[in-house]
Order: sequence, then C-alpha cells, then structure tokens
Amino acid sequence: MRLSNCCYAVTGLGYSAPWFVNAGLIAGDKRTLIVDTGGNMHAAQTLHGYAVAAKPGNLLQVINTEKHFDHIGGNSYFRDQGVEVWGHSGIARTEAEFQAEIAEFNDGIVSSARRAAGEAKAFFSGTRLVNPNRALDEETTFDLGGCSASVLFTPGHTATNVSVWVEEERVLYTGDCLINEYVPNLDAGGVADWKVWLASLERVEALRAEIVVAGHGPVARGDEVQRVIDTVRRILDEAIARGVSPTAG
Ligand SMILES: [Zn+2]
Repeated sequence: MRLSNCCYAVTGLGYSAPWFVNAGLIAGDKRTLIVDTGGNMHAAQTLHGYAVAAKPGNLLQVINTEKHFDHIGGNSYFRDQGVEVWGHSGIARTEAEFQAEIAEFNDGIVSSARRAAGEAKAFFSGTRLVNPNRALDEETTFDLGGCSASVLFTPGHTATNVSVWVEEERVLYTGDCLINEYVPNLDAGGVADWKVWLASLERVEALRAEIVVAGHGPVARGDEVQRVIDTVRRILDEAIARGVSPTAG
C-alpha cells in the first residue's frame, strides 16, 4: 500500500502462523530502497514486482533490518537479479542455522501428514541463504533522488537491528524493534539486550513518526504509533523486572 509520496508498505507476507512479516519500498526518482525481503524467494518475487511497478527503471537496492530469516529469506532472489543487499555488519548467518530454521518451521506444522511430507520445503523452495553483500558499519543515508532514507541503528531485539527513517514524509520502518498486535519476540537476548532495546525505543519515540511500518502486524498511524511504542516498552519493562521473556518456556 502507498503510505506517502515515496513510501510504501508490503504487509502480510507469509511466515510461520500466526506471524506475517512486513517489508517496505521507498521509491525516489532514481532509486528504490526495499526494506527487508520476506521469508523466502516467493516473497522476494512479489516485492520485486511491486518495486518495479512503483517506479519502473529505478535502480533497486535492498536493506535488511536484522539477521532473522523472516527478514532476509528473499535475499538470494535479489542478489540473483544483481541487486545490492545492505545490512548490519553483524548479519552473518550460516547454512547450518538456515537448515535448523527449516527444520523448526517444519516441526511447527500441525498436521502430522504435512509434517511427514516436509511441507516446509515448499515454503522455502528456491530459497538459499544469502547474507548482505554490503555491510553497514555505521549509520548512513541513502539518496534515492527526491527523497532520502536514513538508516538508524536500533539494536535490542538483536544486535543487528536497524530502522529506516524517511524524515521528509515522517515514515519509519522499524523492523522488529517495534511489533504491532503481536507479543514482541524477546527470545534472542536477555536482560542486558532488553535494556539496549529500551534505549532504541527512546530514539524511535523521539522521531515523532506519523506512520510506522513495524516488522510484523498492521501499519500504525497517528496516535497508534505511541500506543505501539508504549506496549513494547511495557513488555520489555516487565521482562526486565522478571528476568524472563514473556514467551519463554
Ligand atoms: Zn521478524
């Protein structure tokens, strides 16, 4: 969906139920920045099609908001098209981790017959693990021609999390630094990481974004943005106080 002059959200891309994952497009006059690639090659094909349709002829660039496979699964498709994939320099996933993700995905299938048939293979068909080929060691701004997108380091969910801020249009893509409607996933870290996450929330809050595309869940607008930030903050505060993730065990 179009959010503003340059900014689009692609919501509802598939992942293990009940999660859907989001991506973004920021289309300038010369370049289109694609924020995340979904969980598999098929999501990437969809994103690629939307990106080309939004601004035909633009140079495409991709940025990953973090290292988890639901945000980088389509990287292989874009690299196969010759598209640069940017991401935090800490994104260095291994083939063993990717195979473990596929196995875990398959284990989550409710039907024993579908589990036995290994239907996770269908979800990941044509998908290879590809890490970013352009490492981000510091914050940067992409000049897309007529609009620009600033990469902000917003760690906490993982150490590799970044957000993308389109200040002129007050649109913020947060990856999983913010989650809307779902309980955020705190399981990749512990109390020290959750405190880092809280600091990232402060930074995100100070931007006063009017539209937020979170990593998962509906796009938030207006007053809902603050509600989403407050909800994630409350869950982090509670987890820090208890010393355990809300979804642990
Ligand atoms: Zn995610």
